[in-house]
Amino acid sequence: MVKFDVAVIGGGPGGADCAIRLAQYGKRTLLIEKAHMGGTCTNVGCIPTKAMVAAAKIMKDSRKRAPRMGISSVVDLDFERLMKHVNRTVTISRKGIESLLSKYGVEIVRDTAIYKDGQFILEKGGVTVAASKIVLATGSSPFVPEALNSPGIWTSDNVFSIKELPKSLMIVGAGYIGVEMASIFSAFGTEVTIVEMMNRLIPFEDVEASRLLEDSFKRDKIRVLTSSKVKKIEETDGGFSTVVETADGSSETVMTEKVLIAIGRRPVVPDGFSETDVLEKGRVVTDNNYATSIEDVYAIGDVRGETMLAHVASAEGVSVAAVIAGKPEEVHKKLYPGVIFCEPEIASVGVREGSNGLDEGLEKFVFPMSANGRANTLGERDGFAKIIIEKASGKIKGVSLAGPGVTELLMEAVIAINEGIDIHTLLKAVHPHPTICEAIKDAAEGVAGFPLHI
Ligand SMILES: Cc1cc2nc3c(=O)[nH]c(=O)nc-3n(C[C@H](O)[C@H](O)[C@H](O)COP(=O)(O)OP(=O)(O)OC[C@H]3O[C@@H](n4cnc5c(N)ncnc54)[C@H](O)[C@@H]3O)c2cc1C
Repeated sequence: MVKFDVAVIGGGPGGADCAIRLAQYGKRTLLIEKAHMGGTCTNVGCIPTKAMVAAAKIMKDSRKRAPRMGISSVVDLDFERLMKHVNRTVTISRKGIESLLSKYGVEIVRDTAIYKDGQFILEKGGVTVAASKIVLATGSSPFVPEALNSPGIWTSDNVFSIKELPKSLMIVGAGYIGVEMASIFSAFGTEVTIVEMMNRLIPFEDVEASRLLEDSFKRDKIRVLTSSKVKKIEETDGGFSTVVETADGSSETVMTEKVLIAIGRRPVVPDGFSETDVLEKGRVVTDNNYATSIEDVYAIGDVRGETMLAHVASAEGVSVAAVIAGKPEEVHKKLYPGVIFCEPEIASVGVREGSNGLDEGLEKFVFPMSANGRANTLGERDGFAKIIIEKASGKIKGVSLAGPGVTELLMEAVIAINEGIDIHTLLKAVHPHPTICEAIKDAAEGVAGFPLHI
């Protein structure tokens, strides 16, 4: 094997973007991928879920919103064709990444990297990876505790290969994956129960977003069990029986055709690497420049076990490329937005208000989507825009949004916080009418003390 400047292990959003940027910096770059290019995000994550979310929205709009506007139609789901649409989006994404890698001259090896005697080796090829530097971007996989494991259980790894829609579904875990799946399957007509150990859905998001989502789920007849713990899952004749210890301490058995476990993900490392002292509780530990304690070995993305999101993996990949190329000025700021494609959509960045309210020195204003003109015309009035500022400086510290299309609108807030913009500077920007983004302006006016529209 010729010697490369850098070998990147893993072709997910972290590894692929890292390899492309390294090649753009003129580094001779090798990308090692054991499965499909695009990683979790393209193959069993962001892309297939959002393809299903798009279909779910059409179903829900046709069934619930269209009749209110005087439009009626017969809505029917051909599940086989839906899954063809899902697979098409995955293939387009995968091929797009492959062609970008080849366009920029990244060399690709389809093999599994393992770690032995201080070196990375290609399992099938049987050769040592010859590179001056290594970037580990091996990602993560769904976590299923032994006690809940059973052969027929679904995780996000196999849910996109299903052939039929279940009549009923138990979802264990109400993080972003669990609630997106609940929205999707419920829109398709599956009877959904969702169980969460913490006292609210999406427990790491804004507390009002959790409440709003719970209300919306209940209206859609999704059964929500919070402060509840799944104790046992057993396969039965027609499906599964799930024993849940509910909030009041009693035990309930829920019978469903299928069970989807979405309680979290665990980093994946090459065989042999977990024996190194680079790992702490299964996560690869790095410094601020993504360097591990092994010289010339870096790690980015889900394998670090911190913020497991595609755009974080990508930003870290691009940043480590800048570090390796000696361009520290191109390293990103570590402010990570989050977007959840449930119904209604939820998006947030910076400080999120928790169950105990805001810290001292912070102030908020919440503008309801029901007072927004565009939301009204869409017939989607659920939601809000919340701005949190530092009282003393007026600087924007956090924004949480819920409502139609808010995942597309968050960037205004990301730039404002990233650049340390205060509320008065934001208000100098004229917001177009009628748009959902006016709700951000309205919330900003509210926190500045002169709300125009409420
Ligand atoms: C259902 C679901 C929905 C999601 N939706 C979103 C979303 O909407 N937005 C968002 O930002 N994030 C989303 N995510 C998370 C996102 O997919 C991950 O954070 C992201 O893919 C992590 O990127 P990565 O490059 O670190 O790792 P991965 O994408 O996991 O890629 C790692 C790659 O490394 C390869 N690999 C592993 N070990 C080896 C080895 N030894 N040798 C060679 N190759 C190896 C794997 O085959 C894989 O291709 C979602 C995840 C799931 C499961």
